[in-house]
Amino acid sequence: MTAKRDLALSAIATFGPHPLGHYIGGAPVAGTGASFDITEPGTGGLLGQATDASESELNAAVAAARDAFPAWSATPPEERRKILNKVADLIVARADEIAAVECLDAGQCWRFMSKAAIRGAENFRFFADRAPAAADGQALPTGDHLNVTTRKAIGPVAVITPWNTPFMLSTWKIAPALAAGCTVVHKPAEWSPYSARLLVEIAHEAGLPAGVFNAVNGLGETTGKRLTEHPDIKAVAFVGESSTGSAIMKQGADTLKRVHFELGGKNAVVVFEDADLDAALDAALFMIYSLNGQRCTSSSRLLVQRSVYPEFIARAAARVKKLKVGDPFDPATEVGPLIHPRHFGKVKSYMDIATGEGARIAAGGAPVAGTAGYFFQPTLFAEAEQSMRIAQEEIFGPVLTAIPFDDEADAIAKANDVQYGLAGYLWTRDLARALRVSEALDVGMVWVNSENVRHLPTPFGGTKASGIGRDGGDWSFDFYMETKNIALARGTHKVPRMGL
Ligand code: NAD
Repeated sequence: MTAKRDLALSAIATFGPHPLGHYIGGAPVAGTGASFDITEPGTGGLLGQATDASESELNAAVAAARDAFPAWSATPPEERRKILNKVADLIVARADEIAAVECLDAGQCWRFMSKAAIRGAENFRFFADRAPAAADGQALPTGDHLNVTTRKAIGPVAVITPWNTPFMLSTWKIAPALAAGCTVVHKPAEWSPYSARLLVEIAHEAGLPAGVFNAVNGLGETTGKRLTEHPDIKAVAFVGESSTGSAIMKQGADTLKRVHFELGGKNAVVVFEDADLDAALDAALFMIYSLNGQRCTSSSRLLVQRSVYPEFIARAAARVKKLKVGDPFDPATEVGPLIHPRHFGKVKSYMDIATGEGARIAAGGAPVAGTAGYFFQPTLFAEAEQSMRIAQEEIFGPVLTAIPFDDEADAIAKANDVQYGLAGYLWTRDLARALRVSEALDVGMVWVNSENVRHLPTPFGGTKASGIGRDGGDWSFDFYMETKNIALARGTHKVPRMGL
């Protein structure tokens, strides 16, 4: 454990000069703006500081992306493929270091982060290999014309990411943007900025030309805002809270930004009485308590059919009490700390809200005693109702709200009764019901008899307040590229004549 933490500390020690600045035009740039603290969730200690990009630093990053765009978008896609595959190789080679940095400043657990780093590499490899076909379009013939569509990169784009699984999420956005031929200015979350620096350094080590991928640090309301307002930025790929998505849409309105939003969720796992209840329990617990409950696709609402509800909840509570909470670097740890004291306060506040609303705390419900880190006991709220705030609001911690339902119609009504629509999980052995309920759930993604298992060619994204647009497969290229239609006349049609 100490060795992994030392690995992370020595990785961030190389990010001089301190405080952490930016990476612009292929080189580190010291920040001159106000600095802010970066804390270690596992210890509550100060790890260092980063700087909020000044206006001129932000403008320099956008100018670097703008200047690099013509050459990068004209680079043969086979060449882009080679470089991006090299990025993937280097991520794999440094996966332990990346995972350790995620444990250090995001407080995520080693057991999940070692896989997340590899997932980051897979994201790069997947989109690298698709680069040669990214511009492909369709042939849409009519009697008089042959219409041919083609795609080209939209221009410099902003990628703005949150703190929950910072490295993996950044690669999910940055890899398709670069494969499409776009240049990038990335702003990572201010609470966990270190792995973003690793990524931009790795990309340059792999041979990415200077200016193609730039990273700026800073706060959302200053650096993030300026980036989304900048006229040279053509599109904003954003992952974060729904309210921030709404702010970004307003900020980008004057310059008519194209936006892609992956936002919050309050996802239901719906367990029918005929389900494989053992597997359903495993999956429900995994989807809410892994990643410290700080997961957009978490199963934060557990809807269980009333006939099996009491036993299912009793079994869940017993398992939740046994979850191993502790040092994120310890491979045995299942639940680590929350990211920041402010987020810790938010999660804690829902304990009083739950009891005030009449729910029962069946497990957890309090901070973990005797630690300076931001550890909160994995918590299960039982006997909740769909109208309660604990069933409506995204808590984004290791907190599960269990609600009974009567029949299929009741399950669908309760599952859909939230402002969000990211993911749904459904457990039943009845195939026809699985199909009916999947179609009725107002969400972007449904998993039947499964936890969230990603397949990169499939679409990822949400409905309602959970987002706009889809990532994955060709959907990613649709966002980062403009489609053009070219109509070629066969010379058979009559051109209308005027002014004769
Ligand atoms: P957040 O919205 O507070 O911050 C996300 C990023 O936006 C940060 O980099 C922040 O600095 C920046 N930002 C904040 N205000 C801004 C502004 N006005 N203009 C431009 N940028 C601004 O989100 P968070 O608290 O970091 O992350 C947690 C949220 O992310 C949760 O709601 C979670 O569900 C969501 N999330 C969604 C997905 C998904 O795929 N749908 C994935 C992961 C996380």
